[in-house]
Amino acid sequence: MTDFFVFWLLFFAVGIGWFLGRRSLHAPSIRSELPSQYYRGLNFLLDGRPDVAVDAFINALEVNSDTLETHIALGNLLRKRGEVDRAIRIHQNLLARPSLSQEHIHLAHLELARDYVSAGLLDRAERLLLDLVEEAPEQRLVARRHLLDVYQSERDWSQAIKIAIELLPKKKLLKTSPNFKERGQAVAIVLAHYYCELAFQKKSSGEFSLSRELLNKAIFHDRYCVRALIQLGEIELMSGRPKEAIKFLKQIREFAPEFISETIFLLRDAFGKVGQTDTITNYLKECYKSHPNPTIALEIAEDLLLEEGSESAREFLYKELREHPSLGGLSKLIKLQPINLKGNIGKNLDQLLKLVDILIKQRTKYRCDHCGFSGHQLHWYCPGCKYWGTVRPLHSEEIEKIT
Ligand SMILES: [Zn+2]
Repeated sequence: MTDFFVFWLLFFAVGIGWFLGRRSLHAPSIRSELPSQYYRGLNFLLDGRPDVAVDAFINALEVNSDTLETHIALGNLLRKRGEVDRAIRIHQNLLARPSLSQEHIHLAHLELARDYVSAGLLDRAERLLLDLVEEAPEQRLVARRHLLDVYQSERDWSQAIKIAIELLPKKKLLKTSPNFKERGQAVAIVLAHYYCELAFQKKSSGEFSLSRELLNKAIFHDRYCVRALIQLGEIELMSGRPKEAIKFLKQIREFAPEFISETIFLLRDAFGKVGQTDTITNYLKECYKSHPNPTIALEIAEDLLLEEGSESAREFLYKELREHPSLGGLSKLIKLQPINLKGNIGKNLDQLLKLVDILIKQRTKYRCDHCGFSGHQLHWYCPGCKYWGTVRPLHSEEIEKIT
C-alpha cells in the first residue's frame, strides 16, 4: 500500500464520517446501524489493513446521488492501482441500485467499461461502450474514445476507422482540425494510421488495389502521413510500377527529410527496375547536400566504392566525417582501409572495428518527439506515450547527445 493510497483512504473515511453525521441529523432512526460499518473501517485502517478497510467503508456508505462520485472516485483509484477486481465490484454494486438516475447509471457503466478494458475483458467493454454510444448522449464522445482503445487493442482496424470517422468534426471533414484532439493528437492523424494498419493487412493478403485505396484515404486525412507514402511506394513496387513508387517516396523529402534514410532501400529497388541505377546516387547526393545524414553518407560511400573504387569512397568519408562525424562512418572508413595491413596494425584495426560496431549496435536510432521514448527500431505507434507517428529517425548530432 502506498502512502498516497492510505492518505486518500483517510480522506475518504473523513468524508464518509461527515456524510453519515449529516445524514443522521435528518434521519435519527439509522443512527445506530450505519456507524458500526464505518467504525469497523476505521479500525481496519488503524490496524494497517487498508485493503479490508476499503470494503467496510463501501458498505458503510449508502449509494445515492450524493455519494455516487465518492464511490466512483474510489473505484477509479483502485483501478489505477491495478486492483481491477475491486474496482469492478464497486461499479457493479452501483449498477445494482435501482434508485440511481439514468445519468448516474450511464456514468457507472462507463467506469465499469474502463475497468473491463484494464482487465483485458475487451468484449464486455465493447458491448457496454456501444450501448453508451447508442443510449447516452452525454457519454457518447468519451465512450467512442474508449472504443478506439478497445479496437486498437484488438487490432480491429475496420471498426477503429468507423469510430474515428464518427469522432471527426462533422463540418471539417475535408481537412485536419487542429482544435479537435484525440488524446492530444488530431483525430485525423490517428485515423490515417488506422488506414495504414488496415492497408498493411490487405497488402499482406495480396489485395494491392484495396490497400492502395486505403492508403490514399490515409493521405486524404493527413497529407503529411510519411507512413502512407512509404507503404504506397512498397505497393507500387510490388505491383510492378516502380516509377509510381519513386514518385511517392520522393515526396517524403519535401516535408519529412529525416525519413529519407527509411526510403533508400525501396528507392534503390525502384530505380534499378526502371534502369536508372546511377540516378539513385545523384538523388542521394542532392538529399545529403540539404540534409546531411550518416545513413545517406554511407549509402553514397557504398555507391562510390562500386563505381569508382575504395580510394574515392575513403576520400568522401574522410571529408564528410570531419564535418558530420558518425560512428557508422568511422566503421565504414576502417573497413575501407587497404586490406594488406599485416601484423599488429592490422590486428589493432580489427579490434578497433569490433569495438566501434558494438557501440553502433548499442546506440538508439529513433526517438519520439512527444515523450522522448527512444529505441533501435521505428515504431509508428509510440510504446511510451501511445501517440501515432511521433517516433522519427535521429540526426547524428542528436544521437551523440542522448548516448
Ligand atoms: Zn512517445
